[in-house]
Amino acid sequence: MPITQCDQGGSLGPMPKPTNAIFSPLGTTIFTVMSQLATAHRAINLGQGFPDGNGHEDMRAQAALFLNDQPNQYPPMLGVPDLRQAVATHATRFYALDIVWKDEVMVTSGATEALAACLLGLINPGDEVVLIEPLYDSYLPIVRLAGGVPKCVRLAPPYWELPREALAAAFGPKTKAIVLNSPMNPIGKVFMREELTFIANLVARFDAYAICDEVYEHLTFANRPHIPLMTLPGMRTRCLRIGSAGKTFSLTGWKVGYVTAAPALLQAAAKTHQFLTFTTPPNLQRAVAYGLEKDDAYFSNLVSTLQAKRDLLAAGLREIGFTVLESDGTYFVTADFAVFGFDGDDVAFCRHLTTEAGVAAIPVSAFYESEAPKTLNRFAFCKSDDVLIEALTRLTRHFKR
Ligand code: PMP
Ligand code: GLN
Repeated sequence: MPITQCDQGGSLGPMPKPTNAIFSPLGTTIFTVMSQLATAHRAINLGQGFPDGNGHEDMRAQAALFLNDQPNQYPPMLGVPDLRQAVATHATRFYALDIVWKDEVMVTSGATEALAACLLGLINPGDEVVLIEPLYDSYLPIVRLAGGVPKCVRLAPPYWELPREALAAAFGPKTKAIVLNSPMNPIGKVFMREELTFIANLVARFDAYAICDEVYEHLTFANRPHIPLMTLPGMRTRCLRIGSAGKTFSLTGWKVGYVTAAPALLQAAAKTHQFLTFTTPPNLQRAVAYGLEKDDAYFSNLVSTLQAKRDLLAAGLREIGFTVLESDGTYFVTADFAVFGFDGDDVAFCRHLTTEAGVAAIPVSAFYESEAPKTLNRFAFCKSDDVLIEALTRLTRHFKR
C-alpha cells in the first residue's frame, strides 16, 4: 500500500486556516448520529425517517428501463420535461393549481437542495426569515449562510397551536420570507385553513415570500386535507412550493425534489440551483414522472397504510406508558417519556433507548436552536408491521422490567 503524505511522520502539519464558520462548528446531523448508533447496537431504527422497504417494484423497474433506453447525459437544468409536466399536472389534480410547467417547475436533488436553492436565491444579507420551531435541521444553517437573520417562533406541546401574536411580532419591514413546513416534521402537525389564512395575511401585509416545505403532502391522516399555502388568495405569486419523491414514493435515497413557483420566483431559485447541483439524474426524474401519474388508489393506499402504522405504534407506545402526542401527518409520532422518571434529557433518553432497549429514536430538542422541550422523542412508523411489533416488544420488555 503506498504511503500517503499524511502517514509520513504521523502529523498533519500546522493547523490550516479556519474553515467555514457556519458549518464547521455544527455537529453531524442527529439523523446520522442515531442511525450509526442504531447500527452499532443492532437496534431497530425508528430514528431517521426512511421506509424499511426498497420502494415500489414498478418504480424501480421503470427507472431501470429508462436507465438503459434513455439518455444519461445532462438533462435540462430545470429538469426533464416529462417530470416538470407531471409536477404541474399533479398540482392541478390535487390542488386545482394552474401551473405552467415550462416556467414554473424546477427539479432538484431532493427537497434539501430545493430548500437551499430557494433560500439562497431569495435572501440578501440582513434579510429576516421567519422560522417555526420545532424545525427541520437544514433551515437554520442555510438561512445563515445566505446572511439571513432567523426569527424563530415556537409551537408549544402538547397541542402545537400557532402562537398568532408571536408570529405576527416576528414579521417586520425586514422580513423577506417565512419557511412553512406542513405537514410538519417532527410533530405531525398539519396546518389548517384558518392558520394558513393568518400566515397568508402576514406574508401579504409584509410583502414577503413563503418557502413551503410540503414533502409530506401525501401523508396526512384521518381525511385531514393537506392545503398548500399557495392555494390561498394572494399567495400564488408569493410561494415556492417544495415536494419530494422520496416521501411520496417511499424512495428516500433517490433524492428527487421539485419546486413550483411563479416565473420570477422560480428564476431566483434556478439561479442558485445551477451552481448547487445544476441537474438531477435524468432517469430517476423520468421514473418519478411515471410515479406522479399513478392512479388515486396509489395515493389513498399510501395514506391508509401509513395511518395504520401510526395507529399500531401509537397504541403500543401508550400501552407501555408513553404519553403519545397527536400526529395528523408525516412519518412520525412524538412521545413524552416524563412518566418514566428518566434521569437525563431527551438526548440521553434516546441514546439509552438505543443501547439498552434496542430501539433508536430521535430527541425532539434536535429540532430547536435553544431551550427545547426535554422529555419528547420522535419515533418513525414508516416501517414494516413486523419491525414495529418487534420494536414495541423490546420497549415493553425494557420498561416493564
Ligand atoms: N424537509 C423535511 C421536513 C424533511 O423531513 C425532509 C426529510 N427528508 C426534507 C425536507 C428533505 O427531503 P429530501 O430527502 O427530498 O431532500
Ligand atoms: N427527513 C429525515 C428525518 O427527519 C432525515 C433526512 C436526513 O437524514 N437528512 O428523519
